[in-house]
Amino acid sequence: MALRTGKEYVSGLSDGREIWLAGEQVAVAEHPALRPVIDSVAGLYDLQHDPAVQAEVSYQEAPGGPRYPIGYLIPRDREDLVTRRTGITCFAEACFGLMGRTPDNVATLVMAFASAAEFFSGHSPRFGDNIRAYYQWCRENDPFIAIASANPQVDRSRGLDDLDDPLVPLKIVRETSDGLVVKGAKMTSTLAPVTDELLVFPIPGYRKDEHAYTAGFAIPVNTPGLRIVCREPYAMSGRNRFDHPLSRFDEIDATCVFDDVLVPWDRVFFHGDPDAANSLIWATTGFQHQGHHGMIRGLAKAELMVAVAVRLAESTRSTAHLHVKEMLGEVLGLLDSARACLLLSEVDATRSRWGTFVPAASAVYTSRYQFPAACDRMAEVIRILGSGAIIAAPTAADLAPGLPHDVGRYFATGDMTGPDRIGLLKLAWELSGDAFGQRQLLYERYYGGDPVRLAAAHYQTYDKRRLEDVLRRALAG
Ligand SMILES: Cc1cc2nc3c(=O)[nH]c(=O)nc-3n(C[C@H](O)[C@H](O)[C@H](O)COP(=O)(O)OP(=O)(O)OC[C@H]3O[C@@H](n4cnc5c(N)ncnc54)[C@H](O)[C@@H]3O)c2cc1C
Repeated sequence: MALRTGKEYVSGLSDGREIWLAGEQVAVAEHPALRPVIDSVAGLYDLQHDPAVQAEVSYQEAPGGPRYPIGYLIPRDREDLVTRRTGITCFAEACFGLMGRTPDNVATLVMAFASAAEFFSGHSPRFGDNIRAYYQWCRENDPFIAIASANPQVDRSRGLDDLDDPLVPLKIVRETSDGLVVKGAKMTSTLAPVTDELLVFPIPGYRKDEHAYTAGFAIPVNTPGLRIVCREPYAMSGRNRFDHPLSRFDEIDATCVFDDVLVPWDRVFFHGDPDAANSLIWATTGFQHQGHHGMIRGLAKAELMVAVAVRLAESTRSTAHLHVKEMLGEVLGLLDSARACLLLSEVDATRSRWGTFVPAASAVYTSRYQFPAACDRMAEVIRILGSGAIIAAPTAADLAPGLPHDVGRYFATGDMTGPDRIGLLKLAWELSGDAFGQRQLLYERYYGGDPVRLAAAHYQTYDKRRLEDVLRRALAG
């Protein structure tokens, strides 16, 4: 199969999975609040069959051979990183960077894990074989995969076994000849209700004795005992696209509840090892490659945000004022900083101990800390420039001809008709203000872990020899 179509993706969703939304068990492909994002994801799969971009969004191991999704390309040199960036950019631009966990995103993580299969073999040779086999299977079958990593918060000051209910975080409760049996929950899994597979792996922070809470595995979303509970959706089929231009990209987030779920041994990548759990994401280069993907995708979003800010200001000619021009210069600078960080991650890329070519961790850390703040600021500038109009913009229905208020007339500016400017204001509000926009900002802050702890890790891992040398020379006089 290798490159799936959107239709194949959608038909795979009717597989008996247990998905809950607003107190009811739902069939995802038919649900009006989930269908918009399903169609958006299907559109990304269809890109793989679009002759205009197929060569970018997929790759071949050898000329004339089968094509595979670009996320699975294991980079052997800098050119491969650029090839990956080109393909990932196609997906990112198709959704304006508003969907983070697109199929190429988790494919990237599976690629990184498999390229570092020896990390998993160090635990047991069969686990290295398992991650290699999973990579091969994914590359051939092109599944849509969600990630589930963070445990429910409960009490971050206590160990997991000390919690009043130690079965809230995901825990291995039994080992059988067939596999691991797990129970508990993972907190926020983006798109899990509409994916095919769930990749579970720990994020760092486990205590030395928390063996039973550490496991890495992948299971189909329709595995018995897996219940996925959606948050309130921000999209709805049939919603007017003019009024809600972006909500079709609402990546439904969900809580994954595991009720004695059996994970077969061939889908286990490691377990019972807090040290491995705490080092996995860096040692396997998953952090660096996910960060590279995130920077590419984030750039597409930043471009849209800055484009909206510029148009808002220019449409009302508020650019005549110095401080407005300063704000626009500031967000353009944030955009270019994001681009610079991405390119730096490639320029400073190095060969890993696994023989692959890996984006520079330092640039990824920088982006993970600075990009959330940049997005917050871009959204703020959009709201400042949109001001009261961003809130007052009426609906498409109010623009119907013949209505006595003729409200569109009052939104026109020198170079925009009323309806065009109302459309811009709607876009601006979804991007920066309403629930969809606020979730976008929180996503940037947390999708790759807590930026506070990542900045601290940046300090701890930064190669400071050059800084020490500079200081030594300055002090030497
Ligand atoms: C929109 C969105 C989508 C997401 N999608 C996914 C997904 O697809 N898959 C997935 O696995 N996860 C996802 N996440 C969750 C994400 O992985 C976590 O939110 C992130 O790792 C931060 O962890 P936490 O939420 O548990 O925050 P916490 O660890 O509880 O931290 C919350 C706050 O308390 C502070 N804090 C708490 N404990 C400590 C500590 N021990 N040391 C220092 N500071 C501490 C933090 O600095 C932070 O300010 C998503 C999150 C969001 C917001």
